[in-house]
Amino acid sequence: MNASASAAPAIQIRDLHKSFGSNRVLTGIDFHVDHGEVVCVIGPSGSGKSTLLRCVNRLEEPDSGQIVVEGIDICDPETDLDAVRSRIGMVFQQFNLFPHMNVLRNLTVAQQKVKGRSKKEATEIARANLDKVGLGGRENVYPAHLSGGQQQRVAIARALSMDPDMMLFDEPTSALDPELVGDVLEVMKTLASEGMTMMVVTHEMGFAREVGDKLVFMDGGVIVEEGDPREVLSNPQHERTQAFLSKVL
Ligand code: ADP
Ligand code: MG
Repeated sequence: MNASASAAPAIQIRDLHKSFGSNRVLTGIDFHVDHGEVVCVIGPSGSGKSTLLRCVNRLEEPDSGQIVVEGIDICDPETDLDAVRSRIGMVFQQFNLFPHMNVLRNLTVAQQKVKGRSKKEATEIARANLDKVGLGGRENVYPAHLSGGQQQRVAIARALSMDPDMMLFDEPTSALDPELVGDVLEVMKTLASEGMTMMVVTHEMGFAREVGDKLVFMDGGVIVEEGDPREVLSNPQHERTQAFLSKVL
């Protein structure tokens, strides 16, 4: 990474707009994520949280505004999107593992195809990441034979195996039975403590309070309020934030 890139925030978003037809989903989003920062995004269903996250790696195309990731303008037609995307790990609510591949293959296939690693190197990296998420020894199992929490930890290990500069999580624990949530949050907490830059859409207010450096509350396509998670959660300034928190806390 060159000097100008490292001086820039990890993610800088300016005046981002995105509509689907007449549905104006994001109507002027401005914020940034610093290196090593954990930003949690909360807000009602339909407020545009997933769309925002998906714009960051151009799974959705913004209508206007600017998104700069590690100093690279990802809306610039000249930008090599695959190169930028390979630096951004993404974890979805529905795991999205390859069902016809065992756990090890799930972790090695993109390493070999995208990163050009040998099978041996990819396997070593995969095993280290499976150990990291507490699933060492499960490499020959197929996703269907794992619990949802284990599948999500495999998905995290798969993303980590690509050596991302940052990780985007879209409600990573929302599809899980309550007793499986803790193990996934624990893995995310470890990542945060190791300095990973993270953007996390979540309803886990305990995680946001404990691990988040910044909390962003979205409603109706805008950021209504942002700040220190402990302050926003205990003393929300905006009436819309208060109304939302009174329902979820
Ligand atoms: P959240 O993640 O906060 O629940 P989303 O970003 O998923 O919100 O959705 C915001 C709005 O955008 C919703 O009204 C949703 O129906 C709409 N939307 C999201 N993705 C698409 C899409 N691919 N096509 C059309 N509408 C979409
Ligand atoms: Mg969503």
